[in-house]
Amino acid sequence: MFIFDAHVDTLSRLHSSGETLEDQSGHVCLDWLRNGHISAQVFAVFVDPVFYQGMALHRGLEMIDLFWNTIEDYSDYLGFAGSGTSIDELYQEGRIACLLAVEGGEVLEGKLGHLRNLYRLGVRVITLTWNYRNAIASGQMEGDDCGGLSSFGCEVINEMNHLGMLVDVSHLNEPSFWDVLRITSKPVIASHSNARELCNHRRNLTDDQIKAMAEMGGVIGVNFCSAFLSKDRQAAVDDVINQIMYLIDVGGVQCVGLGSDFDGISQTPIGLENCSQTYVLYDELKKRGLSEDVVEKVMGHNFLRVAKEVLG
Ligand SMILES: [Zn+2]
Repeated sequence: MFIFDAHVDTLSRLHSSGETLEDQSGHVCLDWLRNGHISAQVFAVFVDPVFYQGMALHRGLEMIDLFWNTIEDYSDYLGFAGSGTSIDELYQEGRIACLLAVEGGEVLEGKLGHLRNLYRLGVRVITLTWNYRNAIASGQMEGDDCGGLSSFGCEVINEMNHLGMLVDVSHLNEPSFWDVLRITSKPVIASHSNARELCNHRRNLTDDQIKAMAEMGGVIGVNFCSAFLSKDRQAAVDDVINQIMYLIDVGGVQCVGLGSDFDGISQTPIGLENCSQTYVLYDELKKRGLSEDVVEKVMGHNFLRVAKEVLG
């Protein structure tokens, strides 16, 4: 079984609590990653908005240091993945491939040079915004009236395409989303977003957005946040499965993956309380009549495909 989870916020939990990856107080820890057969894990550097004024890069660099220290501390089990092929190699060695993402372009502090330096430090995914407007684009909380990509945002997309980095459209408002799709020369990902048709939340994608991403070879990671799965009750495993089945219906089997958002969400679905349980989706998807091949795509091979295509 190959499982690729495109988004967790574990670095910011560890950074603020001072805990290590061995502590079992959140949704993600070393034993659970291993027992849960997670093969590739994207760790997001999420900078809290209180640090946006002049401290975003500083704070981001502290979390990048934590990422590298964690990999070094547990190098028997973890390895850095800076390319699609290195994910394959680590999987063959039985180690978990760890990818580094930045969630929120505030960390770039308006400079392409910082983007290139983040790449040099191992960052391979940038979620362009969190919920608000920044120098790159507008987040979904701003609504659709405050516009899309800035001219600096266009430069960022071009440079990310050039460097071989995954552009992540989760959290964007709709004008920004469509601007990104217009100018990117590579497929993009929505690392942790669901279908709005099943749960009407601004963080979720419309059918038109899902289709457009699928057509360009992009992949959408289904988010386990209860509020993005169900409006009025705590979600359960079935709600995650329903999202996956719906995304397949609208966009096809190539566009669906997993992006749990563990350690970044307050309420998890019943039956998916932490990352040791993600593998239960495998059997649940087979029960819905999906073939082995399709289930493997959803569990990890779609994200592996787009990682190989974009990261090399
Ligand atoms: Zn997020």
